[in-house]
Amino acid sequence: DLLVNQIAAGEVVERPASVLKEVLENAVDAGSRAIEVQLEQGGVRRIRVADDGCGIEREDLALALERHATSKIASLDDLERVGTMGFRGEALAAIAAVARTSITSRATGAAHAWRIDGDDRSLAPAALNHGTVVDVADLYYNTPARRKFLKSEGTEFAHCDEMFRRVALARPDIALQLAHNGRVSHRLPVATPLARVAALMGDDFVAHAREVEAESGVLRLTGLASLPAYSRASRDAQYFFVNGRFVRDKLLTHAVRQAYADILHGARHPAYVLFLTLDPAGVDVNVHPAKIEVRFRDSRAVHQFVFHALTRALAESGA
Ligand code: ADP
Ligand code: MG
Repeated sequence: DLLVNQIAAGEVVERPASVLKEVLENAVDAGSRAIEVQLEQGGVRRIRVADDGCGIEREDLALALERHATSKIASLDDLERVGTMGFRGEALAAIAAVARTSITSRATGAAHAWRIDGDDRSLAPAALNHGTVVDVADLYYNTPARRKFLKSEGTEFAHCDEMFRRVALARPDIALQLAHNGRVSHRLPVATPLARVAALMGDDFVAHAREVEAESGVLRLTGLASLPAYSRASRDAQYFFVNGRFVRDKLLTHAVRQAYADILHGARHPAYVLFLTLDPAGVDVNVHPAKIEVRFRDSRAVHQFVFHALTRALAESGA
C-alpha cells in the first residue's frame, strides 16, 4: 500500500510546490478565513500550512491519510460538477507516502485538538485553538531517486511562491501569509479583488492596465489586462482563472494573444489577471491530474467571448 501511494505520489507530488498546492486547496475547501504558510529550504525541508477552517474530527483524521478517502464527493453528480478545488481524495495519502507528514486539527466544537502522525498513524491529543495544521517535512526522504530531481532552494521556493500567488489572486476573501526560512514574504489581509491584484502584481501594473468587465449569457469575464505601456511583463505575469481555478489553457491563451495581436505586435508579453466564470456544467476541469487544463462544452463561444471582451476593454478610450 505504501508502494501504491508512492507511485500515486509521482502524479500528485512532483515538487514542494505541488504539495503546497494540494494542502492550500484543502485549507481553502475547509472554509478558512485566514491561512498561514511557512516554508523551509524551498519547501523541501518543511511545508507547514495552518488554517482556521472547519477542522477534522478525531475519527476522520486517520481517514484523511487514506487513499480515495474524501469528504468532498457525495455522489457521481458531485464528481461531474466539482464544486471544490481538490476532489480525488488521494493527495494527503500520496504526500504522506513521500514525506514526514503530520496533521493537527481541532474540529469545530471539539474539546481539544488531535494530532496524527503519518508514519505510524498514531493519534495523540494536541493543543490548537482552531482549524488545521498540516506539516510536511523532508520531502522524498525515503525516495532518493525522486530527491535527485529537486532543483535549488531558490527555484523550489519560486515555484511555491507562484503557487501561493495563484491561490491568493483567486481568493481575496481569505487572509494569507507566506514565510520562507522565517522571513515573511507576503502578508495579505482580506481585500477586494482589485486590491489583492495590486498587492501581488504591483501598483505599476494596475496603473498601466485596463479593467475588464464583460458578461454574455452565463459567461462573465472580469480582471485586469496590461496596456502596451506596461513594459515589465514577464511570462509568469499571466493569470487566467476559470470558476476560481487557475488554468493554463491553449484555447484561452490563444484568445488573449489574439486580442493583443494588434497592439503588442508580438514583441512583448502582456500581463493579466483574468477571471472567467461560467456554468460549471459547461466546463470539465477533470481532464488532467495536475488540474491545470480545462475542456469547454462550447469552446468556440468561450473563445469568441474572451477575445471580444478583451479587445473591447483594451480599445476603450485612453488606450
Ligand atoms: P480531497 O481534498 O481530494 O478530498 P485530500 O487527500 O486532499 O483529498 O484530503 C482528504 C480529506 O482530508 C479531505 O476530503 C478533507 O475531508 C480532509 N482535510 C484535508 N485537509 C483539511 C483541512 N485543512 N481542513 C479540513 N479538512 C481537511
Ligand atoms: Mg485535497
